[in-house]
Amino acid sequence: MAERKATNIVWHPGRVTRACRERLSGHRGFTIWFTGLSASGKSTLAVALEEALYGHGCHAYVLDGDNVRHGLNSNLGFSPEDRAENIRRIAEVAKLFRDAGVISITAFISPYRSDRDFARKLAESEHDAFIEVFADCPIAVCEQRDPKGMYRKARAGEIREFTGITAPYEPPLEPEIHLQTHQLTVREAVDAVMDHLVRHDYIPCAPNEMRTSFRAQGERV
Ligand code: ADP
Repeated sequence: MAERKATNIVWHPGRVTRACRERLSGHRGFTIWFTGLSASGKSTLAVALEEALYGHGCHAYVLDGDNVRHGLNSNLGFSPEDRAENIRRIAEVAKLFRDAGVISITAFISPYRSDRDFARKLAESEHDAFIEVFADCPIAVCEQRDPKGMYRKARAGEIREFTGITAPYEPPLEPEIHLQTHQLTVREAVDAVMDHLVRHDYIPCAPNEMRTSFRAQGERV
């Protein structure tokens, strides 16, 4: 993990607290961290979950692996060091989102347990604000899905350090939510996460009518 280089830096506190921002949101700030092989369904489920949360009147935002590598993490590759830095930055961004009273949904392979544990550790003092979701799908099914043609390229030797083929994946030992994405439909998987969030008081059980009433006419969700 990157060491802090700057010295003589002093935290400058704000006056609007996280509790204020969470009251404004109508729910806590927390992180839903998807992990799993490429094509296991992380991005698909993250997007569908964001839509479900929006429909519920919740402030949620997807941080997607490929999207973030277009911008914030465009200078990182796929070596173990770069993967660690990729996850470190996202973990820090997710922490900022929590402090802002927003739900962040991350969709990163995040293959190394130590990197995911780092992300979890950042939320340690925040009372279960980190929910690890294992998108669990056999590699044979992922390879058959191959929505971006990545497995084909990896098998052809065109991509180095491809998770599951030429780079390791360490499955979570105790994820809060374990989804067998080859056996569930997208709807069923999203429902399972929403149920978990309601049952554990992360979000209100009924959609917030006041917050959903301003949706654009004809908008899906
Ligand atoms: P990842 O983000 O893990 O790389 P993607 O979401 O990009 O995976 O791709 C998963 C592919 O599998 C998509 O084409 C999606 O439509 C398909 N798929 C089929 N069934 C499911 C399911 N139950 N959950 C998630 N994705 C599924």
